[in-house]
Amino acid sequence: MRIETRDRLEGILGSTIKKTKAVSGGDIAEAYLIETSSQRIFCKLMQGQSARDMLQAEMDGLEQIRNTGSIKAPQVFFCEDLAGQVCLGMEFIESKSPSPREMEKLGEQLAELHKSSLGKFGYQKDNFIGSLPQSNRLHASWVSFYVEERLSPQYQIAVSRSLMPAHEIPDNSAMIETLSPYFEGVTPALLHGDLWGGNYLISITGEPYLIDPAVYYGDPVVDLAMSRLFGGFSVDFYKAYNTNGVVAGNQEDKTSLYQLYYLLVHLNLFGSSYYGSVKRIMQQYF
Ligand code: ADP
Repeated sequence: MRIETRDRLEGILGSTIKKTKAVSGGDIAEAYLIETSSQRIFCKLMQGQSARDMLQAEMDGLEQIRNTGSIKAPQVFFCEDLAGQVCLGMEFIESKSPSPREMEKLGEQLAELHKSSLGKFGYQKDNFIGSLPQSNRLHASWVSFYVEERLSPQYQIAVSRSLMPAHEIPDNSAMIETLSPYFEGVTPALLHGDLWGGNYLISITGEPYLIDPAVYYGDPVVDLAMSRLFGGFSVDFYKAYNTNGVVAGNQEDKTSLYQLYYLLVHLNLFGSSYYGSVKRIMQQYF
């Protein structure tokens, strides 16, 4: 950590930093555990044009989840500009590997989070998915939200970065027509929005926490689809979710169609190795 950043941090905390320890695992920000004589704080540091917007969106998402009281998210203490870097300071969660009961608890509490609702799909602010912008313009219709605010912007990025040829992209009205029968009867639920296995923590006291959210109101199956894309969630988690949750019936088609969004995001962030998976889902449905 830069010396000027550390000095500014001491000013914000109002006490001397006794120890800083780099925390690995993130691919976007630098992260540190900061210890003073009375506090342990997790700090994410970013620089560049979107740093403030990204960290503010993360702060907003964590607070939105926390305020539901359904599942824990780290308490945010500050989001400040420090000597050319932006720093998000939050509660440090000391974590451990999950027991089956703790995975059940994560499933039960995610189901509770999904019971927080709104009259429309989207969110009052835009945010980010990884480092890519995520538009949350409010829609009354889920299918139009999913096509116009999720699939279409990612297709446009893929074409602009020469990761997909323009002629392979279906137009919005064709996508809406194809997807409509699969998306009937969806009610808006508060989503984590980027629920892969690295975005939950189990604290040493056995409490599940959600981190790094990309919140909005959408189909709860979106979070389940993301959880299934790369693994990291046990059968205990799904059983508990299904017992307590708002999702019923066969979700296989919706799961693939929602994974398509995350695969497009991965194509745009990490390159052409994700093209095959994107193509397979598109050939199946479009
Ligand atoms: P990035 O946004 O760069 O992907 P992450 O939010 O995933 O960064 O965090 C990087 C690492 O820090 C991960 O290993 C994650 O588990 C850990 N982490 C995130 N938030 C906290 C927290 N509040 N307390 C303790 N560790 C955390």
